[in-house]
Amino acid sequence: MADEKAIAHTAEHAFIGALQKILGRTLQVRKVEHKKDGNTAVISISRLDVDNIVKAEIMVNALIQEGREVTMRTYSSLEEARNANPSLRANEARISGEVRVVEIGGHDITACAMEHAHNLKECEFFLVTRLSKSGDEYEVDFTVGRQAKQTAISISAKMLKVCSELGANLNTIENTARKIREERDSSSKNLKMLSKDRLQSTEPTKRDGMSVYNGVFSALSNEALQEFAGEKILEPGTIVIVSNIGSDSAYFVFARNEAMSDLDCNHIFREAVGSDGRGGGKAHFLTGVVKKERAADVVAKVVDAALRQRQK
Ligand SMILES: [Zn+2]
Repeated sequence: MADEKAIAHTAEHAFIGALQKILGRTLQVRKVEHKKDGNTAVISISRLDVDNIVKAEIMVNALIQEGREVTMRTYSSLEEARNANPSLRANEARISGEVRVVEIGGHDITACAMEHAHNLKECEFFLVTRLSKSGDEYEVDFTVGRQAKQTAISISAKMLKVCSELGANLNTIENTARKIREERDSSSKNLKMLSKDRLQSTEPTKRDGMSVYNGVFSALSNEALQEFAGEKILEPGTIVIVSNIGSDSAYFVFARNEAMSDLDCNHIFREAVGSDGRGGGKAHFLTGVVKKERAADVVAKVVDAALRQRQK
């Protein structure tokens, strides 16, 4: 029996061969990695979807079940190999001189110098565990044999747990997940709209030619606070110091018109909050997080410090 790496590698031939049949085109495999915890094939292709991956998985497992033989033969050149095997798959840049051709009976013929199993049966079971796009390539992770069986069990266990978390079953899980995502998107859109209305009703305090918008809110959208500040500070002489109390902590925005360069938001915020929060950003626009119970106090302190600084 061939070693684990050779077995995993042979499954990769079967898988690429299967994908080629399903997609009706020749594929270029840029790189194959065989590691202890799994294998990765990097395929040069601009689009590859889960449905086709699953079709290929089913095909590979059927070939394993049938026990397709894997045979090898050598040719003196790539040209000769191509003449004898018109459907030959080869990474031409890497091949020079004598060529070894690996054939999975009736399925795939590839020029390859690596070690292979003698029969697909040795793969036992083939499972794709991850599909990820990067640029014009797709990385496909897969496992074979005992590792694949163990992984299949742990993936199905996760799936069952996700079903119970979401109150769904295996038939409805995808629809449930889609619905939850849609609901979440629409809720956060509504919250942002309501938050904007709430913030817009804030009146500024006018002092020494400045407009100061300050306030402590709760359960608003943090994004709305940021947008509100970004909008208001376009007006000359305007400062925005607002906090939004959430379930764990309070979100903080301190921003000022860009021309008021004597006010360093980072410096003033750090002085006011001490060790009860953290934040950062540009000198004129800071966002941060403070302890819930300190939110009102920190807003007051920052307002105070900003006004004092401007009076200097
Ligand atoms: Zn090979």
